[in-house]
Amino acid sequence: MQIHSRNDAWVLGREPPEGWPTDGDFRWVTRDQQLPDRGQALTKTLYLSMDPYQWGRRRSGTEVPGDVCHGRTVSEVIASRSDVYREGDIIFNTNGWQRFGLVGNGIDIFGYMFPRILDMNSAPVSTAVGILGMLGLTAYAGIYLQCRPQAGETVVVSAASGGVGQAAGQIARILGCRVVGIAGQQSKCRFVTEELRFDACISHLSPSYADDLREACPDGIDVYFESVGGSVYEGVLPLLNQRSRITLCGMISQYGNTLPEQASERWRTVGAPFFQKQNVTVHPLFVGNFVQDHQTTFLETMAGWIKDGLIRYREDIWDGLEQAPDGFAAMLKGKNFGKTLIKVAPDATTDDIPKPGRSNRNVLEA
Ligand code: NDP
Repeated sequence: MQIHSRNDAWVLGREPPEGWPTDGDFRWVTRDQQLPDRGQALTKTLYLSMDPYQWGRRRSGTEVPGDVCHGRTVSEVIASRSDVYREGDIIFNTNGWQRFGLVGNGIDIFGYMFPRILDMNSAPVSTAVGILGMLGLTAYAGIYLQCRPQAGETVVVSAASGGVGQAAGQIARILGCRVVGIAGQQSKCRFVTEELRFDACISHLSPSYADDLREACPDGIDVYFESVGGSVYEGVLPLLNQRSRITLCGMISQYGNTLPEQASERWRTVGAPFFQKQNVTVHPLFVGNFVQDHQTTFLETMAGWIKDGLIRYREDIWDGLEQAPDGFAAMLKGKNFGKTLIKVAPDATTDDIPKPGRSNRNVLEA
């Protein structure tokens, strides 16, 4: 096995100003790669996950200029001096936006405790940063553990075609709910109803968005899975039923304008009159709080649902680490279609993949 002594990475180029990512925010660097010490393994990044929270980290100063950009990854162990990882293992870890990274006894370079060896036979390994990873767990926690919708209730899911939204709506569907998605373009809305089998999907880009949503929810809304904020959220508020529940998962429409804490404050102020009148329960969601107690059950449950054809998913794959800033910006601006991933190196575990460029899978095969 050839050990690579050089590593390419995207580092934060400057402190991001208010707004959305631009070219100067990221800088490409190539430098020496440290080899594994005793107890460590060297891993090659196969897939890098693009997630909205990464922009929050950058803008809040958690990540400073020169830091390797944070990102969860699926990686292959290419050299090991660890008792835990063997050469050839495919693992979920947090290499960040770079080709190679070290893991050591359950901790990766960002100090995360989550690295785990993947079962290559249960699902494509890329799902470990998507439907069978944090995104799926986020949806499971918000719908299944927090809001607990009853059969027959109306559940509305924003960003319905995206990584979290796809899973959230389908879990509610499994629970017997009437599920209404909210998405942007009509092609996404069609995907949500035809492939993901939601009962309806409304475009927030339509001038009649609020009326369309009202029409799609004749019995009001019992559960709202919030990922977007802004005008999408404001269309939901008047439709909330008595004792309805909201999972506050995110508010991506605001991430370029304000920091997450400011966005949360504004969100609560706008919603307060409705919450009070309708006795609404808001469940703030941070997926990290659910890992320890629920990850194992979630993984078993979700893998079963996928195997049984109850859950489908779509990935939006960009080819090459070089594309990470473009893929990231596109995702934040809603130009993605499904869970956004960067394919950094060929994935030998799935023969029909890699496909060059952007692709999707599973929904068309299911
Ligand atoms: P997605 O794959 O859903 O991509 C983001 C989607 O958001 C876009 O496809 C777009 O869909 C929609 N969007 C973007 N900008 C706007 C806008 N201005 N107005 C309306 N819709 C917009 O991303 P993820 O699944 O990774 O994340 C979804 C949400 O979940 C985010 O808010 C994220 O921060 C949150 N999250 C929270 C976690 C937690 O622990 N609380 C963990 C993981 C994610 P469309 O074109 O259809 O509008």
